[in-house]
Amino acid sequence: KKEMRYAVVTGANKGIGLEIARKLAEEESVIVILTARDEKRGMDATSSLNTTHLLNGNNKKKVFFHQLDVRDPNSAQALANFIQTQFGKLDILVNNAGASGVVVDEEGLKALNIDPIAWLSGKATNTVQGVIQQTYEKAEECLDTNYYGCKRVTEALLPLLKLSDIGARIINVSSLRSELKVKMFENRMPNERTRKELNNISTLTEEKVDNLVKKFLHDLKQGKLEENGWPMMLPAYSVSKTMLNAYTRILAKKYLDMYINCVHPGYVNTDINWHTGTMAVEEGARGPVMLALLPTGGPSGCYFDQTEVVEF
Ligand code: NDP
Repeated sequence: KKEMRYAVVTGANKGIGLEIARKLAEEESVIVILTARDEKRGMDATSSLNTTHLLNGNNKKKVFFHQLDVRDPNSAQALANFIQTQFGKLDILVNNAGASGVVVDEEGLKALNIDPIAWLSGKATNTVQGVIQQTYEKAEECLDTNYYGCKRVTEALLPLLKLSDIGARIINVSSLRSELKVKMFENRMPNERTRKELNNISTLTEEKVDNLVKKFLHDLKQGKLEENGWPMMLPAYSVSKTMLNAYTRILAKKYLDMYINCVHPGYVNTDINWHTGTMAVEEGARGPVMLALLPTGGPSGCYFDQTEVVEF
């Protein structure tokens, strides 16, 4: 009998996370712990996956629900306790939960017929005043979810991941906006010095990355983003994902027996981009699922654009 593997997916009540949970649950040897910050949304998603699974002629429940708000340390510890008691180990962790860092007036967006893509690429800034807003509060929430949230959950679950007998897989769902290499969108990345610091994995530490996040929030508060060379489009979101990648590399270097990678899922049609994304969730889940099921000996400490390894 094949040994069961246990997988946690965060923010799995909808979007790409739900699709990752669905795909993993379809694997014969994987049990999914679907997590969501909202109990009702999470339970509904879980029962819909289990219902389909049972209707397909299977006889065992494959998906379990546990509440997890990645911003809440107690909630991460409660999840760890649940897994410890129920399953005794964890093999796969998909850090998928994410926040955009902006407030959007969706009605206003429709009424003005604004192309959010044009806005995101800096071409329509004046026309969207008040429709898409980047407040300090939202920026803080974004960093606390996408970067600190991932760290919080990973740290709480690491003792269980270390007990995996196959070498745990950790997948951090990142974004194209994290990239240090090309300038696809103008002024998207941190300044040259910060980029070099983030790319020098031999000297990079968690403390350094945390300090960069603090510096970013400080500069945002002081109105000094542009002056200090931070990305000007979706600044908090971009920075959160850049720092998430850095954290991924640090972890991979520290845990040589694990497979720890980050991945841009593609531009996917979900709530996070007001459904402007062009890919279906099925396509978006492909990269994260591939990394969750990575064979032994596979890559670690890498960044993927969907299913391909690319430069950071
Ligand atoms: P969705 O908005 O559909 O899903 C986001 C998920 O994250 C929801 O389940 C949401 O829960 C959850 N979430 C937000 N905050 C928290 C929190 N504090 N604790 C727990 N869960 C939380 O967006 P996507 O499915 O598109 O996003 C999934 C990931 O993919 C994100 O990390 C995103 O940055 C990344 N990504 C997406 C791209 C795209 O084109 N769609 C492109 C690049 C990256 P709730 O329902 O309660 O709000």
